[in-house]
Amino acid sequence: MKECKINENKKRCNCSYEPCGKKGICCDCIQYHFSSGQFPACFFPSDVEKTYDRSIENFIKTYQKRGPWW
Ligand code: SF4
Repeated sequence: MKECKINENKKRCNCSYEPCGKKGICCDCIQYHFSSGQFPACFFPSDVEKTYDRSIENFIKTYQKRGPWW
């Protein structure tokens, strides 16, 4: 079984929601958000991520406005 890269993941994670226990556990994070019609924080530029609007609609809106930012 492959080991979770939680510490490496945390270094790359731009999520500003500090109390979340899923930070760095990307499999749980993606599952949690996608099941609610959302993407995780890392799908958004940092200024948009801070609004906590993680909806797929907001992702599309941001992409249409800015193009690829990653
Ligand atoms: S994106 Fe959501 S689930 Fe993932 S670490 Fe941030 S608040 Fe937690």
